[in-house]
Amino acid sequence: MGVITFLLVVFGLELSTQGVSLVLARISAGVSAVFAGVEFHVGAARFLVGLTFLLLGLVLWALGIWSAHAQAKVAVVGAACPQCGNDTRRVKRRDWQRLLSFVWGERLTRRRCETCHWTGLSLRH
Ligand SMILES: [Zn+2]
Repeated sequence: MGVITFLLVVFGLELSTQGVSLVLARISAGVSAVFAGVEFHVGAARFLVGLTFLLLGLVLWALGIWSAHAQAKVAVVGAACPQCGNDTRRVKRRDWQRLLSFVWGERLTRRRCETCHWTGLSLRH
């Protein structure tokens, strides 16, 4: 839902004001100005700081959406298998699972059930 809302706002702005094109043109002109070593509308330092904030914001926004979607993949809290109830064993996490754990600030473990071979993510207290 967040993505659709965002796209509606972006397309609405573009259709009604061409504002998005203007912003993109200014950003690309700013990048060219920095590389050419010439001054731009707002000055090179301000432009680069602004661009950094913008990119950081976009990355954090994307991480937020991604982590909200990933929440559905966490099957259990604790060590019991969600399928058969037996004890599970910790296995090595994948890189994206480490990143997710970092984004959430929670201890996310990857577990595997020796009995029914279920593999999934678990939150640890
Ligand atoms: Zn199991």
